[in-house]
Amino acid sequence: MELQPAETPPLADNVDQASPAEVAELLRFAPGDDFSAIDTAATPGFSGEKQDGRAAQQVDTELLSDLQERLYANANVGGLRKSVLLVLQGRDTAGKGGVVKHVVGALSPHGVQVSAFGVPNAEEASRPFLWRINRALPRWGNIGVFDRSHYEDILAVRMHELEPPSVWLDRYEDINSFEDTQVDSGIHIVKCMLTVSPEEQAKRLENRLRRVDKHWKFNPTDIDDRARWADYTQAYQDVLDRTSTDLVPWYVIPADRKWYSRWAIVRLLIHQLQQLNLDWPLGHFDPDAELKRLEETNRQFED
Ligand code: ADP
Repeated sequence: MELQPAETPPLADNVDQASPAEVAELLRFAPGDDFSAIDTAATPGFSGEKQDGRAAQQVDTELLSDLQERLYANANVGGLRKSVLLVLQGRDTAGKGGVVKHVVGALSPHGVQVSAFGVPNAEEASRPFLWRINRALPRWGNIGVFDRSHYEDILAVRMHELEPPSVWLDRYEDINSFEDTQVDSGIHIVKCMLTVSPEEQAKRLENRLRRVDKHWKFNPTDIDDRARWADYTQAYQDVLDRTSTDLVPWYVIPADRKWYSRWAIVRLLIHQLQQLNLDWPLGHFDPDAELKRLEETNRQFED
């Protein structure tokens, strides 16, 4: 049965949403595009407001759950060797954690592997930079999520001068060939760069500072990084220019409106999974014969 995004009854008549394939086209970053010119408050492919976006995302999440279950079932029973990897990057407060919580958190935990990449520990630091990434790749049938990723081995390393340019400059190519190899092996990679405006980031940082229940999310280095906004913009531009390939493009997600970025990422995941054309796997048994056997076991419970 071919699954398409269900209709969204709560959506107002005048709200339009682009199909998953159209969203992928709208958000795909082409090398040379100007990252700093992207409107972070825009909602490409969605004409409605917050409540419409949330309603639409809820409906889409059901479809995504169904697709995830098909992927899991086919890998576990049908021997399918495929998985999906969602890579999340973006400035502090761009909403990576919210995507993990609200998008990925709505899926069955059986089929999801979430990995957050912080400052490498002693062992990780003593290994080639892709060592810890390799260990976190999703098993067949799973959706893996990277909350930060191997791109920090360029971005953080460059911005904090942890290694000389001769080291991190080689990593663009290393990453491109690493990702090509993973795609060839069966991992569908969806790379999302969430982008917020400086004004929106200020609001979110202030909120983290004013609310005790948000203090755990705040790190004083976030302010240092914010002070170097333009340098970071250049670092992101270089990553996007050099690693948005035909096979594994970057999607730049306007993230001033959280509901939009979540809606868009759900659509991008649906787009990837729909391309797999997953039917339910056939069991290795005869259902009619098994039903008969089940019936026979029921006899013992009859009076
Ligand atoms: P987040 O900011 O994503 O909520 P943390 O507060 O734990 O999570 O911050 C993770 C930090 O680890 C970030 O500042 C990031 O730049 C840093 N980091 C991640 N990967 C690397 C790396 N490979 N090398 C150096 N720093 C890294």
